[in-house]
Amino acid sequence: MKKAVKWVIAKGGKPFLTDSSTLYHGSRSNGIDHINLAVENGFSYATMGAPIVIADGVRSRDYVKVEVGLKHFKTVKYGSAVHHADSLICISHFKGHLATGFGGTLKNLGMGLGSRSAKQMMHAVVKPEYKDRDLCTGCARCVEICFASAIKIASKKASFDHLKCIGCGECISICPERALRLLWNESPANLCEKIVETAFGVLKNKKGRAVFFNFVIDVTPDCDCLNWSDNPIVPNVGILGSVDPVAVEQAALDMVNAQPPLPESEVDPGVGPGQDKFKAIRPGIDGDVQISYAEELGMGSRRYEIVNLDEADDR
Ligand code: SF4
Ligand code: SF4
Repeated sequence: MKKAVKWVIAKGGKPFLTDSSTLYHGSRSNGIDHINLAVENGFSYATMGAPIVIADGVRSRDYVKVEVGLKHFKTVKYGSAVHHADSLICISHFKGHLATGFGGTLKNLGMGLGSRSAKQMMHAVVKPEYKDRDLCTGCARCVEICFASAIKIASKKASFDHLKCIGCGECISICPERALRLLWNESPANLCEKIVETAFGVLKNKKGRAVFFNFVIDVTPDCDCLNWSDNPIVPNVGILGSVDPVAVEQAALDMVNAQPPLPESEVDPGVGPGQDKFKAIRPGIDGDVQISYAEELGMGSRRYEIVNLDEADDR
């Protein structure tokens, strides 16, 4: 990211680092905590040479509403700082995800930049349910993390109020017993499509003025918002870059799936090169919908050519 900052400055631009607030409770759920956390993780002006601007402001009220007129959303809401920027360099970590199979460029654009209210509308299709009620120890960790107050402990078991639940998925992630799973109100594909429709809105005024990088390294089975990290599932691939957000996502997915699974990872050793690693971890979730729907919306093409810059120093 520092290299990107330096490059923009050298071209006469005024770069800033950005992200939007999270829906779930935590240290990125408001603009102040978010900046403090970024600085703690090394993203300060002193280290990066650019300021941090949280795209949707202090309380996620600084967003723009953009008309998209699509299947799920007529309008989408995302951080105004991104909307008003002249251009966008989207830098994403490509990894697995509890609800979307995998997350990379498209998820970073849609869910990542959506306002909190937009995130809620995207997440409204998912709620927690027991995978195995007997596993619940009544530890109440899910109760503590649920900022919607949708969980209670009764008779030493968690119980969920789906009317209060806003579908952030935090309880599922934090449960130490892995007792919970997603209950889908609609097909999992709808969440993927809603994310893509928001990404479509984000890119609406960035035509020809955006570039996308997928860091296909430390490909963990779960999202980076969790407060732990499991072993990577495949060997590191490298960094993919493109002006086409669909091509860069398809290439990242293909290159992950072309790898053998790493031992001691969540992927069964029998799932060899060429087989889908993310579907092996979560068979019910077809994350590919993100890519196919983005192509259907005209955001780019799933076809790509890999140019290895390590081997092509004349480019
Ligand atoms: S975190 Fe898991 S084990 Fe603990 S109360 Fe909630 S569901 Fe039960
Ligand atoms: S019940 Fe779980 S998914 Fe629903 S709001 Fe609470 S933490 Fe989020």
